[in-house]
Amino acid sequence: MTETRIPVRAERPYEVVIGRDLLNQVLPLLGADVQRVAVVHPPTMIKLGEDLERLLAEAGLEPVRIDVPDGEAAKTADVTANCWSVLGTAGFTRSDAVLGVGGGSTTDLAGFVAATWLRGVRLITMPTTLLAMVDAAVGGKTGINTAEGKNLVGSFHEPAGVICDLDTLATLHHDDLVAGLAEVIKCGFIADPRILELLEENPTAATTADSAVLRELIERSIRVKAGVVSADLRETTSTGSQVGRELLNYGHTLGHAIERREGYRMRHGEAISIGMVFAAELSRLAGRLDDATAARHRSILAAIGLPVTYRGDAFDDLLATMAVDKKARGSTLRFVILNGLTSAEILAGPPEDLLREAYASVVSASNS
Ligand code: NAD
Repeated sequence: MTETRIPVRAERPYEVVIGRDLLNQVLPLLGADVQRVAVVHPPTMIKLGEDLERLLAEAGLEPVRIDVPDGEAAKTADVTANCWSVLGTAGFTRSDAVLGVGGGSTTDLAGFVAATWLRGVRLITMPTTLLAMVDAAVGGKTGINTAEGKNLVGSFHEPAGVICDLDTLATLHHDDLVAGLAEVIKCGFIADPRILELLEENPTAATTADSAVLRELIERSIRVKAGVVSADLRETTSTGSQVGRELLNYGHTLGHAIERREGYRMRHGEAISIGMVFAAELSRLAGRLDDATAARHRSILAAIGLPVTYRGDAFDDLLATMAVDKKARGSTLRFVILNGLTSAEILAGPPEDLLREAYASVVSASNS
């Protein structure tokens, strides 16, 4: 099957390429004057890193492989400074490039290094987790964490191209694949209901790395993200009934608070799954969403193997965390809620009683 190309209308438009055996897509994206290419990857992706190193060397370029720590441990100022030092030692110039190969942590770090070196050099990303393909690698947000919180330092820096080689998903841990589906399901509720039907009709194929169903889900989700970010490149915020890029935060206000409470040991998608059940209940209790669509959240997420409940004793903690979340604009707590399938709005400053009532619906009998 040939590759699929999805355009992103950024300041410098680029494409997300989806397919198999896509290493040959890298060279055409590097630019005419490129000489040095930093291949940034975690230890889990060393084989792909080495294959890319060989490919670049055979093309007469100077590859520099940077093996960065696994997962969130890569998104630190120290690791970033180490990457800068490697680029400096190798003599990277404005026409050289950074290739980020890995999950969202790696593409966020590689993107930030590319955004900051010489005030911005060419970036290409090869996301290798489902979450990074459908979310992190598309849209131009790059960044690292500080001791005070996640993603507090960063920059918008669009890639020259994103290469989603579906073959890389073969080695991904099943739980990481399932967690990535939370963002796919989000895309279904906010913009593309066919995604929900595909998941309901084929729950097993949806969680199988090499299935045609998963490929279709990935392509549809990337189209949703590409469409939303193309319309609001810099998250200039929502105006009136237009929700803008904030739409992608559906389920994320509570989800981020749960992640933080769990010390980021819970997978992002698992926290977002619970956050979406909460957001759907909030939408229903606010008189916006019908009972059946709210219930559909719980049934699809649970059928895929995602959590839909959380601790009953955590509400006060989560509320305090949500209040300081950077997604809270000014002093008002904001939630993306649904009026129906694919129809969202912002609920700003809902009363605490309403939040408490919605939260009660995500508390399971065993942990209340
Ligand atoms: P991750 O990058 O930590 O990867 C999860 C694990 O999978 C890691 O251990 C990694 O080494 C391993 N891995 C990656 N690809 C693999 C493969 N093909 N086979 C085997 N193992 C593999 O996590 P993630 O879920 O991909 O991304 C989470 C990060 O993405 C967070 O830091 C989050 O802030 C960020 N993010 C960014 C954006 C954005 O717009 N920039 C959006 C969403 C999330």
